[in-house]
Amino acid sequence: MTTPHTYITTTIPYVNARPHLGFALELVQADVLARHHRRHGEQVRFQTGTDDNSLKNVLAAQAAGVGVQEFVDGNATTFTALAGPLSLSVDDVIRTSRDPRHRAGVERLWQACADAGDLYRKHYEGLYCVGCEQFYTPAELNEGRCPEHGTQPQQVSEENWFFRLSRYTDHLHNLIAAGALRIEPAERRNEVLAFIAGGLEDFSISRSTDRARGWGIPVPGDPSQVIYVWWDALGNYLTALGYGTGSDDLQRWWTGAERRIHLVGKGVLRFHAVYWPAMLLSAGQVLPTDILVHDYLTVDGRKISKSGGVTVDPATLVGQYGTDAVRWWLLREVPRVGDADFTLDRLINRANDELANGLGNLVNRVVAMIHRYRSGHAPTTQASAPDAEALDQAIEQAAALIDAALADFDFRRATAAVWNIVDEANRYINHIRPWDLAKTERTGNQHTRRDLDTVLATLLRTCQTIGEHLTPFLPDAATRITQQCTSLDGQLPAPSPLLQRLAAPTSTPGPESGKPARDNRLA
Ligand SMILES: [Zn+2]
Repeated sequence: MTTPHTYITTTIPYVNARPHLGFALELVQADVLARHHRRHGEQVRFQTGTDDNSLKNVLAAQAAGVGVQEFVDGNATTFTALAGPLSLSVDDVIRTSRDPRHRAGVERLWQACADAGDLYRKHYEGLYCVGCEQFYTPAELNEGRCPEHGTQPQQVSEENWFFRLSRYTDHLHNLIAAGALRIEPAERRNEVLAFIAGGLEDFSISRSTDRARGWGIPVPGDPSQVIYVWWDALGNYLTALGYGTGSDDLQRWWTGAERRIHLVGKGVLRFHAVYWPAMLLSAGQVLPTDILVHDYLTVDGRKISKSGGVTVDPATLVGQYGTDAVRWWLLREVPRVGDADFTLDRLINRANDELANGLGNLVNRVVAMIHRYRSGHAPTTQASAPDAEALDQAIEQAAALIDAALADFDFRRATAAVWNIVDEANRYINHIRPWDLAKTERTGNQHTRRDLDTVLATLLRTCQTIGEHLTPFLPDAATRITQQCTSLDGQLPAPSPLLQRLAAPTSTPGPESGKPARDNRLA
C-alpha cells in the first residue's frame, strides 16, 4: 500500500506591504493541517509563496520611490520570514517574479487553454479595481465603489485576451454540487453554487503591457499584453510542482495525490472555486479536492488590510507575546464562519487563562508532585486511578474529535477537544487531592501508596497525551511539554515553567493606523 499524499497550499499574498495577521491566520491553519496529516502517516507538502506580479506592487513601489523588483524582494522577505516566528513546517515557497519554475508553468498553462480553444481576443471596457486586480460590474459596486476597498474603480477600455469560462458553467456546478470539489464551510459552497447558477461570463486574462507598466509575464506570442495577475498567481499551485519544467512533483503532489487542499480567504473564493477549476478543466488537469475558506479578522473592530492602513504585524506580535500565544489565539478564538475581532486583551487573556494557568500549571503541578512524592521517579503502573472516569473519557475521545473537527476545517472544535483534557485533569487533581494521599501514605498505608502511584502515573500519561495532541496546534509548547514529561535515566527533569503569564499592555493598545501607535508593541 502506498502512503497517501496530501498537498496543502495557502494563497500567495500580494507583497505591496508587510504581512498582516489575517495572512498569519491562513498560514497557521495550513500548518496545523499539514502537521495533522503528517501525524497520520501521510506524505505532506505544505506550500506558500508570494504574488509578485501585481500592478498593486508596481504602484506601491512607485509610491515608495523604489524599483519594482527591489521593492517586491524586500517585502516578499517579510512574508517568507514568517515561517520562523510562527513555527511553520513549510516545505516549499514559490515567488512568482523570481522562481524559474513559475513563468515556464504559466506559459504552459496558457498554451494548454489556448489549445483547448478557450482563449480569444476581444475589445473590452469595464470598471477595474487595482486593489482587487479585478473588473466589477456596476451592480457589484457599493454606490460606485469597490465593495472590498471602498475606492472608485478605473474605467478601462482595451483589447484583451479572454478565457471561455462560460463553457464550464454546468460542469463546475455539477462537480461542486456533487462534492467532487469540496468547499468548506457549506455557507461558502452555497455562495459559489449560487454565483455559478447566475451564469458565468468569460473573463479577461490579459492586460496591455503599458497599463501593467511592463511588469508581469508576457502573453506567449503577443508581447503587447501581459498575463492577468490572477491567472499568473493561480497557476502557482501547479507551477511550483514543475508543471512547466517537467518534474515528478506534478504526478506526486497533484495528479496522483489523494488530497489537493487550498486554503483561501473568503474574499478570493471566486477565483479559487470558479476561475481556477475552470482553467484546470480547460488544461486537462485534475481539480483540487478541497477548498477551505476562512473569514476575516478585524482589529479592535476595524477591518484589517495591508493597504487599508489597519494592520498588526504578526512577527512583531510574536516577538512580544510568543509563538504559542499567537497561534493559540488564532486557533481557539477565530470561528469557522464569521469574522473574528483581534485585541491584545483577548490574546493575553486567552494565553493567561488557558496556556499559563490551565495547561502550564497542570504540567508543572504533576511533575512537581512526582518530584516531591516520588523523588522524580515517575510511577509506571497501568492500573486505573480512582474516580478518573471523566478524565479517561476526555482522553479516549480526543483523537476522534480532533480528526472530525479538522476534517470539517474547524480549529476551535479541534483545540476544544485538547482543552477538555486539560480541564478534566485539573478538575481531577482538585478532586482526588494527591497531597492528602501523600499524607496518609506517610502513616505507612500501602493501599494509599498504590493509589497515589496510579494517580501520578495517570496524570503524567495525561500530560504526555496532551503534548502529543497539541503538536499540530502548538508545536513549540508541545515539544517542551514532552521533554518535561519524559524521564532521562529514570528521572523526570526538574519542573520549570513551560508557559509564562503574559503581562498586560502598559497602555490601551491601538491598531497601527498610519499614525504612530501610542503603544509600540504592535508598531
Ligand atoms: Zn477593490
